[in-house]
Amino acid sequence: MRIGVIGIQGDVSEHIAATRAAIEEMGVRGEVLWVRRADAARDVDGVIIPGGESTTISRLMKRHGLWDVVRERALSDDLAVMGTCAGSIILAKEVENAGDRVVSLGLMDIAVRRNAYGRQRESFETPLKVKGMDEPFPAVFIRAPAITRVWGDAEVLATLGDDIVMAREGRMLALTFHPELTGDTRIHRMFLGMVER
Ligand code: GLN
Repeated sequence: MRIGVIGIQGDVSEHIAATRAAIEEMGVRGEVLWVRRADAARDVDGVIIPGGESTTISRLMKRHGLWDVVRERALSDDLAVMGTCAGSIILAKEVENAGDRVVSLGLMDIAVRRNAYGRQRESFETPLKVKGMDEPFPAVFIRAPAITRVWGDAEVLATLGDDIVMAREGRMLALTFHPELTGDTRIHRMFLGMVER
């Protein structure tokens, strides 16, 4: 399988490394590519939209022609997508505080609120109970959004207090934290399972 990491802004190389590690641990054949152009986005089975700044990532995805390719392929179930942190904002159908900017691809039945944690808790790490995992996942939150609501076919996979922090819908996965920063590849392996079907 071929996995692309949308590589125009944000923590791209960490995701590439984590995905390669996950492929190796699973013992499957796979390749991980840095995706900057539309033709590369047509050539992968799954994409990861990394954390960073959702406004910048969405603007550059449009400029580089990635926006329409990812949207159309995901809508026709031709592409699995994982969005982490800013990437989860880009997947949401509703962004509560996007202002007048279009930052979202509108693919998942989730609503998000950007920068949901106050200054004192801007960044933190916490063990997170994730549906389907025996041991908690070390979740790193950095100026994270929160998923405030899911509907339709979206399923909640993890919560933190009152907030939803991970959700799945079909072959799409949204998480508000950074799974690429801790050396724990379980979430990347979960995503690769969704790519494989
Ligand atoms: N605060 C960022 C945004 O709203 C997301 C932060 C992150 O991805 N670490 O786009």
